[in-house]
Amino acid sequence: MDCLFCKIAAGEIPSTKLYEDGTLLAFYDIEPQAPLHFLVIPKQHIDSAAALTEQDASLLGHIYAVIARLCAEQGCENGYRVVTNVGRDGGQSVGHLHFHVLAKRSLAWPPG
Ligand code: AMP
Ligand code: ZN
Repeated sequence: MDCLFCKIAAGEIPSTKLYEDGTLLAFYDIEPQAPLHFLVIPKQHIDSAAALTEQDASLLGHIYAVIARLCAEQGCENGYRVVTNVGRDGGQSVGHLHFHVLAKRSLAWPPG
């Protein structure tokens, strides 16, 4: 499948990695929207959060636990935001499930 994030997960396209294990990869966003902005992706291809099922519960728990640990390590004591965009109206531009983690500035709400 011609998927940018599958290629990044496979190491075929370079990324600036923050963390990697058997199931997921965290890397810095190429167009950061906050002083700290990284993406967390499952290595397995999933189109978006709209494709998630109960079977993905442990994967999602692992993703959020890794995000919590990375944010603690990065000194995000003032907080952070985790966002996953879904589909056109959600602003999704890459069709492989990914979680944006944004931190180190005060983030507006609601998002645009
Ligand atoms: P979304 O618009 O929610 O699908 O998010 C896709 C994100 O991927 C955007 O924030 C892009 O800046 C980011 N992105 C696209 N290509 C790359 C890349 N090669 N390396 C790192 N981040 C990327
Ligand atoms: Zn993919």
